[in-house]
Amino acid sequence: MGVTLGRYVCGAQCEARSSELVALLNALAAQDDTYQVGASPSITLRCTLETHAGLHAEMVHDNARGLCLWVWWADGAEPAGMRWVPDCPVNDPGPGGDACCHHLGHKGGHTWELSDPDRDMLAAIAPVLYEEEHGAEWPFF
Ligand SMILES: [Zn+2]
Ligand SMILES: [Zn+2]
Repeated sequence: MGVTLGRYVCGAQCEARSSELVALLNALAAQDDTYQVGASPSITLRCTLETHAGLHAEMVHDNARGLCLWVWWADGAEPAGMRWVPDCPVNDPGPGGDACCHHLGHKGGHTWELSDPDRDMLAAIAPVLYEEEHGAEWPFF
């Protein structure tokens, strides 16, 4: 557990239409033609970097070959760019350390150094929802 108290995920959001992302993909002239944005009319992007100034970013596709597709946007604006970027090579030095989920050369802390208020909230209420749905005795094995 390398989370440092007081360091949070940015969480800034961007409502992007699929058509915008497809246009960015075309502009990128992607070599990987297996990637499809999908049929949903809009996608909510959410910045996963540490709280910061400047452009926000989220990874939208992992090709599992050490490259991820990232989208950038400014506050309140449409997506500004899309690019394949190598993964951040740093791993959590702690026991059973996780790999960082950000891109090479990212600003701010690595994934495991940040806490995510939205996720913390879900983690706090999930056990309560689970007991409501299944009872404290479930599963019975
Ligand atoms: Zn951000
Ligand atoms: Zn990192």
